[in-house]
Amino acid sequence: MAIEIDRPQDERDLDDIRWYLLHRDVSVCIDADGDWYVAFQTPCEALGDDGRCSRYEHRPELCREHGEPPGDCEYTGDLFVDTFSTLESLDNWFRMTTFPAIAGDDAM
Ligand code: SF4
Repeated sequence: MAIEIDRPQDERDLDDIRWYLLHRDVSVCIDADGDWYVAFQTPCEALGDDGRCSRYEHRPELCREHGEPPGDCEYTGDLFVDTFSTLESLDNWFRMTTFPAIAGDDAM
């Protein structure tokens, strides 16, 4: 599962994201719109052994709106353009980026 977080605006925000990455089975991801997420690699209890949703007709609204196209379960969709699961991967990516470029319109 993934929860949207604010895009980092400064070094303090980046430090918070490093803290997320210090936790086991947690990653930070960026989608095609440049939105940031913290993701927890824990399976949904409704995901069957066959890879199908066992509650499909009664799945939560979030599942219906999620993904591209909307309704694509997070376990089958390819939602993120960048995924960081270690401090090193985040810092390597960030060396080639700047805060204004990350922050986008939100920084203005
Ligand atoms: S559609 Fe939703 S409820 Fe069903 S398996 Fe995916 S995340 Fe779980």
